[in-house]
Amino acid sequence: MMEPIFIKNFTLAQLEAWVESIGERSFRARQLFKHVYARRIRSWDECSDLSRLFRVQLEQGTRLDALEIVKKIEAADGTARYLFRLPDGHFTEAVLIPDPPRCTLCISSQVGCALGCKFCLTGSLGFKRNLTAGEIVDQVLQVQYDIRSRTHITNIVYMGMGEPLANYEPVVNSIRILTDPNGPAFSHRRITLSTAGLVPQLYRLGKDSAVNLAISLHAADDALRSELMPVNRTYPLSELMAACRAYPLPPRKRITFEYLLIDGINDKPRDARNLVRILHGVRAKVNLIAFNPHRNAALYEASSEERILAFQEILQKARITAMIRKSRGADIGAACGQLAAECAP
Ligand code: SF4
Repeated sequence: MMEPIFIKNFTLAQLEAWVESIGERSFRARQLFKHVYARRIRSWDECSDLSRLFRVQLEQGTRLDALEIVKKIEAADGTARYLFRLPDGHFTEAVLIPDPPRCTLCISSQVGCALGCKFCLTGSLGFKRNLTAGEIVDQVLQVQYDIRSRTHITNIVYMGMGEPLANYEPVVNSIRILTDPNGPAFSHRRITLSTAGLVPQLYRLGKDSAVNLAISLHAADDALRSELMPVNRTYPLSELMAACRAYPLPPRKRITFEYLLIDGINDKPRDARNLVRILHGVRAKVNLIAFNPHRNAALYEASSEERILAFQEILQKARITAMIRKSRGADIGAACGQLAAECAP
């Protein structure tokens, strides 16, 4: 028996080709997109504007959901961590971060991650597999079904498990789906993709998508960054920063550089001065985040508030916008670098 087709894997153009392949007119694809993403139907029976025959075809040959919420843990600060089961039994995660008037969903692009950053729990567990475009999109939909009208997602960040640019085509297709005016219709301005710095894919992304870009930087000299983030051995800072300078930013937009501050490792005044140096000529803003300790990075601790403020001051004196960001959901293991699908039942 044929595997049912997972409808959320399709961009609108792909869905048009598919509906034509089963003998329907291509405009039906836009109708399906509206039912799935604007009306958020849970069964094809709800689509009374489709013929009964077409609904039966859809019921028998496709499925609407890939992910199942198996656990939801809410933190004291309102952050909610969702654990999803995938059809093959793997698990992935998303984190909802209400911060009125914003409500941001942090989504995953892979199960695990191959890049092995030393401070990251996801990285310490290794790589299992890429998510499909539909499995990425379905994280948004499943959370939308769960929260219904209580609140709505305003922003999406690709900062959960995995390196998005290592799963390039599905990630770019998921952005195409999420921003489609006939579909979920998120603005590109409301979506941020965060990468550890896969340079060739960064050049491609600049041509393929207009989402906001964030770089997980965490160190401003090659020796330290290669130690913390092995990807730096393949794409050193000179190449990464050249790709950032060439990134086609719209007017008034900047690239966000994420910098976890780890006590005694990357938080010295010299590190801040190195950061000022490498950001020269880049339209940049910096998010400073105290490291979130976890069991697989026992040697690392968060920088003190005093150190973080001193670091920020050096950046600000060099006229670089530097915000101190609080990690949300640390008490439920949902903060930056803490996702590992480890609360699987
Ligand atoms: S920080 Fe990001 S790129 Fe590095 S191991 Fe963790 S998930 Fe992968």
